[in-house]
Amino acid sequence: MPVVAMDLGGTRIKFGVIDEGRLVSTASIVVPSSEHFAAVLPDIERQIDTMLQEGGYNSLQGVGMAFPTIVDSDNMKLLYKYVKYNDANDLDLKGWARDRWNAPLAMENDARAALVGEWQYGAGQGSDNLVMITIGTGVGSAALMNGQLLKGTNYLAGNIGGHQIIRFDGERCNCGNTGCLESEASSWALPDILKKHPGYAGSAYDAGAERPDFEAVFRLAGAGDAFSLSVRNRCMDVWFNGILNLVFSFDPEKVIIGGGVMHSADVILPYIQHKIDHASWLPAHPARLVAAQQPDWAGVLGAGYLASRTTF
Ligand SMILES: [Zn+2]
Repeated sequence: MPVVAMDLGGTRIKFGVIDEGRLVSTASIVVPSSEHFAAVLPDIERQIDTMLQEGGYNSLQGVGMAFPTIVDSDNMKLLYKYVKYNDANDLDLKGWARDRWNAPLAMENDARAALVGEWQYGAGQGSDNLVMITIGTGVGSAALMNGQLLKGTNYLAGNIGGHQIIRFDGERCNCGNTGCLESEASSWALPDILKKHPGYAGSAYDAGAERPDFEAVFRLAGAGDAFSLSVRNRCMDVWFNGILNLVFSFDPEKVIIGGGVMHSADVILPYIQHKIDHASWLPAHPARLVAAQQPDWAGVLGAGYLASRTTF
């Protein structure tokens, strides 16, 4: 029997059918701008039913959902408002999956689901001590120790890597704190980071010739642009510090790095690995940094794996 899993992003929901450990079909839908998750559920139901019908399945082993918020994965509740759908907290999704498909539901935070996906199907295979950090618009993280997802008292354990304080007198973050890893080096913060970096005036970004994104920063830095090189290295130093904190906290065998910036993995991995290799307190062969191998489907795969191990 297959499981169906979905990864709920800001504008799209990705779906996958996983049968005997293999992702046998995928789909994605653009979600309407409705603020009510209840209004999106019929679209989700239709998509799942279509995929089951196309695969010739008439029953489901489980349903997995990965949400971009903190999730109580024992009681299947979102603990913080899912920014896109304010009513998602109040819905009985466990009952919804049971009534609709007679299937148990697994819910998890999307960064944790992605880590499970990489653990079972990607860069983390063969290791039970992993940290994953995803550097994109924001920064997400998760930790697995001795084969167990870390959750903690409030389901926050390992999950707040993007809001670890890197610089206590740094920039204001969108979370309200100051000097978070995200506000010091992430895609949403990059336009401001560029503007405040010495040498911005007269730069290609100031002139409007380049978009203020990491694609441009890495490309121009590689071509020898001193300003871009300086911003690039500062951002990589921020990521190094964040990753080192995670390594000290969780002592993983591998740190899996995902997210849009990994288009520049050939620069990022050796730069940060070199610094990790020479950090105090770590042994001669400390945590190995690896690129995510399932950048598009780790969340779906992980949510599906968790669903396959869930019962009513
Ligand atoms: Zn923050």
